[in-house]
Amino acid sequence: MTDKNWEDYSVETQAIRAGQQRTHEDEHSMPIFMTSSYVFKSAKEASLRFTGQQAGNIYSRFTNPTVNTFQERLALMEQGERCLAFASGMAAIMAIGMSLLKAGDHVVCSRSVFGNTVLTFQNYFAKFGVETTFVELSNLDAWQAAIQPNTQFLFVETPSNPMMELVDISALAEIAHQQDCLLVVDNVFCTPIMQKPLSLGADIVVHSATKYIDGQGRCVGGAVIASEEIIEQSIYPYLRTGGATMSAFNAWIFLSGLETLAVRMQAHCDNAFALAKWLESQEAVAKVHYPGLESHPQHALAKQQQSHFGGVVSFELKGGKEQAWRLIDATQLLSITANLGDVKTTITHPASTTHGRLAPEVRLQAGIKDSLVRISVGLENIEDIKQDLLRGLS
Ligand SMILES: *Cc1c(COP(=O)(O)O)cnc(C)c1O
Repeated sequence: MTDKNWEDYSVETQAIRAGQQRTHEDEHSMPIFMTSSYVFKSAKEASLRFTGQQAGNIYSRFTNPTVNTFQERLALMEQGERCLAFASGMAAIMAIGMSLLKAGDHVVCSRSVFGNTVLTFQNYFAKFGVETTFVELSNLDAWQAAIQPNTQFLFVETPSNPMMELVDISALAEIAHQQDCLLVVDNVFCTPIMQKPLSLGADIVVHSATKYIDGQGRCVGGAVIASEEIIEQSIYPYLRTGGATMSAFNAWIFLSGLETLAVRMQAHCDNAFALAKWLESQEAVAKVHYPGLESHPQHALAKQQQSHFGGVVSFELKGGKEQAWRLIDATQLLSITANLGDVKTTITHPASTTHGRLAPEVRLQAGIKDSLVRISVGLENIEDIKQDLLRGLS
C-alpha cells in the first residue's frame, strides 16, 4: 500500500485508498488506534524517537496512526506536502495564528469569513498585539492597499458564507507574494473536490472537517495543509505543545467521510444548482445568490476557479425578517440549524443567528439583509426540498 505513488492517482482514488498502512492483522478497513502512548523497544529507541532522529509514534497528542492516515490522505487530495489534523476548524485557524504571528504583526482578513474567525483575530490575537485589517472579499485593490510591512498573511474564504461571493485566488496569491506575505485559504465550502487553493498559489489551506468532510453531521474536526517547511517549522511544534489534537475516533469518521466526498459533493452541487434555478423563478423571491447562475456577478470566475458551484444557496425574499422567519417556520422537512455540509438540508436566517452578533451596519455592509435565507442543500430528493419550501413561498 505504501509503495504506490499516490500523487499519480486522481482525487477520487486518493480519497478512498491513500495513506493507509495495513498492520500485521491484514485488515481491509482502517482501524481506530485508541491508544494514548506507544512502547519503545529500548531506552535508546525512546530517546531517538523523542529527539526526532527516528520516525515513529510517541504520544497521541501529536502522533496517532488513524489521525496520520487522515492527514496523509487530505494532504494528497489538496495537493499539499503535509497536513495536520486538529480538534476543530477553529483550533486549526487558531494554530495558524499562534504559530505564525507575534506581537507587532499584522494580518489582512476578508470581512466575509466565518464569524468565529473574525472574533479570533479581533478579540484574541488583538490581545497579544496583533492587528487585523478587514477588507472586502472581492476587491483586490483593497487587499493590496491593506498590506503593511509587518503583514504576515492574508486570510480568505471563497466562496463566502452566506453571500457566495468569490475572490480570484491566483491574483490574491500574487499580491501576497509580492509583499512577502502568505495566503491562507479556508476551503471548507469547496473541499479539495471542487477547488485546490495550493495549486492556485495559496500557501496554507485550512479546513473544518465538521462540514462536508464528515458530511453527516457527526464529529467536529479541522486541518491545516501546507508545505513541509511551514508545517515542520511552525504548525507541528505548535500542535505538539498546544494540544488541540483530533481524536483517533473522529479521524476514523472523517476517513470514511473522505471516501464518499467526491460523489457527495457532485450530488450536493446538482441539488443546489437545481434549487437555485427554481428559486429564481419564484414570485416571492427577490434575489438568489449562487455562483452557478448566470446572474451571479462572478459566474465566470466560479467556472474558472472551481470544478462545481457548491452546495450552499442563499436568497432574499420580498419583505424582511418577518417573511424570512415565516418561510423557515413553514418548513416541515428541512432542519432549522446553522450547520452546513450535511446530507440533511439545513435552513437558517443569517441576520439573526450566525451573523446576529455583528452590528446592523456591519451586517448590511456584508450584504446580509433581514430578508436573507441560507440553505445548505442536502441529498434528499430535490422535489421534496422544493415542496417543503413551497409551503412558505406561496
Ligand atoms: C464551521 C466553519 C469553521 C469552523 O470550524 P469548526 O469545525 O466548527 O470549528 C471555519 N470556517 C468555515 C468556513 C466554517 O464553515
